[in-house]
Amino acid sequence: MAIEVSVLGAGPAGSTAAYELAQRGIDVELIDRKHFPRDKPCAGGLFNPELFAEEFPYIKELAGKLVYNARMCCVSRRFEVTSPKPLVKTIFRKDFDFFLMKKAVEAGASFAVGKKPEGKFTIDATGAKNPRTYAQAGICLVNDFRIEHGLDTVHVHYCYRGIKGYCWVFPKTGYVNVGVGAYLPQRNIREIYASYVEFLIKEKILSEKEAGAKQYKAKIIPFAPLNHFFTDRTLFAGDAAGFVRPGTGEGIYFAMLSGKLAAETIARRREFHWYEKMCRKRFGDYLVSARVWKKRFLTNLIMKKAVRIGSKSPEFAHMMVEDFFRLHTHPLAGEFIKRIFT
Ligand SMILES: Cc1cc2nc3c(=O)[nH]c(=O)nc-3n(C[C@H](O)[C@H](O)[C@H](O)COP(=O)(O)OP(=O)(O)OC[C@H]3O[C@@H](n4cnc5c(N)ncnc54)[C@H](O)[C@@H]3O)c2cc1C
Repeated sequence: MAIEVSVLGAGPAGSTAAYELAQRGIDVELIDRKHFPRDKPCAGGLFNPELFAEEFPYIKELAGKLVYNARMCCVSRRFEVTSPKPLVKTIFRKDFDFFLMKKAVEAGASFAVGKKPEGKFTIDATGAKNPRTYAQAGICLVNDFRIEHGLDTVHVHYCYRGIKGYCWVFPKTGYVNVGVGAYLPQRNIREIYASYVEFLIKEKILSEKEAGAKQYKAKIIPFAPLNHFFTDRTLFAGDAAGFVRPGTGEGIYFAMLSGKLAAETIARRREFHWYEKMCRKRFGDYLVSARVWKKRFLTNLIMKKAVRIGSKSPEFAHMMVEDFFRLHTHPLAGEFIKRIFT
């Protein structure tokens, strides 16, 4: 039988698209350039896991660590918040992406490595491309360290050594994910990563033994302007379309949602403009609202002030953490900025 749709890339965007198409009885091939299971440099945070489970109920089948505590720090100021709702569910991308790919295959999609696409339509979910300008991307260095003690708090460090971005610690089952993410260009990021790991050892978040060789993987993170939704026969989804939230670097939810919408567009024989309209409505406007952080010279000033206010006002602290983990689907950024500048 003729293949209707070729989905290129079996990350969260591509596997979700293939799953949704196969569920609707459409002939779909899912093609990746790598054999699975494969790893992907990522913090592995599913932000606002309750929202995830509403949209993708099968995610609950996959084990992960629910985290309710967050500590936000900037230079000498810090505050800690415990949320009644889980802030993030941490997973390992090797398992998560393999799980989603298998879901697509169980639903009826075929999976192949390095095959020539044959579908009438293509969904391009091949991930981040090299940016044309610095304004379109950030860089992240990341690693999972095996730990012997339990850790239940996400740590976010703004302004560490002046970077425009943030450093983080995400607890996972048996591991912690340590990362540094910054807008491009960022000098000495490798050295900053090594120094951040040393800092975590001093803070007793990691031990010398756990930190080991202080290794990391580096990867580009795209913040493309939202102008790349489709061409004649191809829809772009996930990182391939730049659907990442500036300010936090969160992209898994937007990848999966755009994959689902791309599948729906083809299955319901909608015009491709419908895909663009739905992406903008469901998350695009939200991503654009987060662009306030693109005024990079302001980033560290704003974060310093925000953490200072949060260290004195529990209400503001909750708002800041809820905004970071997107517990509210409506953007809080406007409210947030108003409070900082008034
Ligand atoms: C260090 C780091 C930390 C991050 N942490 C988080 C986080 O905690 N939470 C979060 O929500 N987001 C996070 N992100 C962002 C998130 O990883 C991405 O937004 C998400 O992976 C995008 O999914 P995707 O399916 O679009 O692309 P990808 O996950 O990149 O998948 C693309 C797939 O396409 C394949 N491919 C590439 N080229 C081809 C080709 N020509 N033909 C066939 N296949 C191809 C690749 O092998 C890959 O399997 C992080 C990103 C980085 C870099």
